[in-house]
Amino acid sequence: MNAEFVFVGTELLLGNILNTNAQYLSEQCAALGISCFYQTVVGDNSQRIKDAFLAAWNRSDCVILSGGLGPTEDDLTKESVAEALGLELVLDSKAMADIREFFANRGFEMPAINEKQAYIPKGSIPLYNDNGTAPGIIIEQDEKCAVLLPGPPVELTGMFEKDVRPYLQKKSPYVIASKIVKMCGIGESRVDEKIRDLTTGENPTVAPYAKSGEVHVRVTAKAETEKEAGKLIKPVVRELKNRFGDYIYSTDPAVTLEKSVVDLLVSNNLTVCTVESCTGGLVAGRLINVPGVSEVLKLCYVTYSNKAKRKLLGIKKGILQKHTAVSQEVCEEMLKGAALINKADVVVSVTGLAGPDGGTEEKPVGLVYIGCSVKGKITVEKHIFKGNRAKIRENAVAYSLILMRRCILEYLNEIAFGSEDK
Ligand code: AMP
Ligand code: MG
Repeated sequence: MNAEFVFVGTELLLGNILNTNAQYLSEQCAALGISCFYQTVVGDNSQRIKDAFLAAWNRSDCVILSGGLGPTEDDLTKESVAEALGLELVLDSKAMADIREFFANRGFEMPAINEKQAYIPKGSIPLYNDNGTAPGIIIEQDEKCAVLLPGPPVELTGMFEKDVRPYLQKKSPYVIASKIVKMCGIGESRVDEKIRDLTTGENPTVAPYAKSGEVHVRVTAKAETEKEAGKLIKPVVRELKNRFGDYIYSTDPAVTLEKSVVDLLVSNNLTVCTVESCTGGLVAGRLINVPGVSEVLKLCYVTYSNKAKRKLLGIKKGILQKHTAVSQEVCEEMLKGAALINKADVVVSVTGLAGPDGGTEEKPVGLVYIGCSVKGKITVEKHIFKGNRAKIRENAVAYSLILMRRCILEYLNEIAFGSEDK
């Protein structure tokens, strides 16, 4: 079975709100093994909604629409779809009672305009709304179906989970399952090169996605059951593990890069301290995303000014003057100062030029030094990141976490080999 989506709302076209329903419905249908080839966004205009709906209806087995089920004049989805399919609207008395109750529970009488929400196309299936007033609707015609869902994400997801997923599940004989192999410290083109032979397969399909500092390889299989899909995915994931080894930080959907770092710190009882300049605390923020980091996190510095670097970390004025704040030397001094003052096992430091101003030929915008010390062993990397201020800072944060992970793994390897030698 294939499905396609029509998202209704002028606010989506104007970019006033993000179309999160698109991501949600795409993910859900993929998991149900339903292929989706098209998505349309259309404004609150009756003719255009009808056109968009009919185009979708004519080429797909199922059309899912979101938005435009509200009580106001510009909510036109139901009326437009009913007209397109030649259906009249009739009162659904349970929907009407629900809407009245919804308002009564809040101590109001139902406004007259909400009455129109209780009308549904004749012969359609109402989906009662636990989180709002507009009922959803399923229309079946010519072995096809249209599913109309309210726009507010809580209402749409609640209704999807309760009624729509079970309905679609019965229609789709397949499941699509995916495993994501998450890597860091290796570029997308190198990953691409090394998996070229795997990406030509049809089931499972294998595709890499890059995000700052990370490459995720998605392995997706279609099968009749979850278990069978799992069997198709497993050998490919094993092969990826063979090929990429330590570059892989997790295959667990719940494990982020920062969680993989915090897990390493916690399980090895290593305390940590962050010292940031251009990233302004974002490295600390990523680490503190992870519950349980309090066991190991000692202190987070944001030493943006030279004065702060001197006062809080004891960096000598002469060093700052001679090398400037964005330098290998100052990056190292930041590590040493913080490690000494806090007796932290692991320290990460970042200093760089995020721009847009202040770059020179020798020190261009995007120049970032990232340092990590583990039990006194110092590593400093020089990067030149491309992009605007936000992108440069985002990359600096990602690469700080990647460097931490690499340095901790190196340290753990060293102590493991050390004990083997004895
Ligand atoms: P509507 O059902 O068109 O009255 O939509 C009500 C509200 O739901 C809008 O004001 C948005 O805040 C939200 N909304 C509508 N469509 C979407 C969408 N595709 N993604 C996320 N939020 C949406
Ligand atoms: Mg709307």
